[in-house]
Amino acid sequence: MNKIKIILTFPKETINKPIICHLNTDYKLISNILRAKVMPREVGKMVLEIEGEEKNIEEGIKYLESFGIEVIPVSKEIKFNEEECVSCGACLAVCASGALTLDQESYQVRFDRDLCILCEHCVRACPLRVIEATFDEIER
Ligand code: SF4
Ligand code: SF4
Repeated sequence: MNKIKIILTFPKETINKPIICHLNTDYKLISNILRAKVMPREVGKMVLEIEGEEKNIEEGIKYLESFGIEVIPVSKEIKFNEEECVSCGACLAVCASGALTLDQESYQVRFDRDLCILCEHCVRACPLRVIEATFDEIER
């Protein structure tokens, strides 16, 4: 099983169509919407994580592109510089996924990459800019 993140740009005419659900029913892909901005009669943007067999991912992307949807595979990472963190806790309050937690023994903030949904709320919340989001397009 492979897991990738993709940025989708939807043309206006696709906004009201039930397209994403077919990734699951027709291509057996598990999809997780990480972020979406879709307004009626406007171009829509979505960051989607999809998981499944490599061949199904390729076919699913072709299916999306058949609607004129631009698909850009990306690698995006949250970088947490633990050494510079002063454990003020400002980021903990905004991390809904539980990726950032306070170690009860050391009182150090810990970051669990597997739980992170890349929302970037912590990046904006950290007064010391200890947390960064990096964003790279992947060659296809
Ligand atoms: S990007 Fe979002 S989910 Fe990830 S650690 Fe920051 S607040 Fe938590
Ligand atoms: S907001 Fe920044 S300095 Fe404060 S605990 Fe979070 S990462 Fe550390």
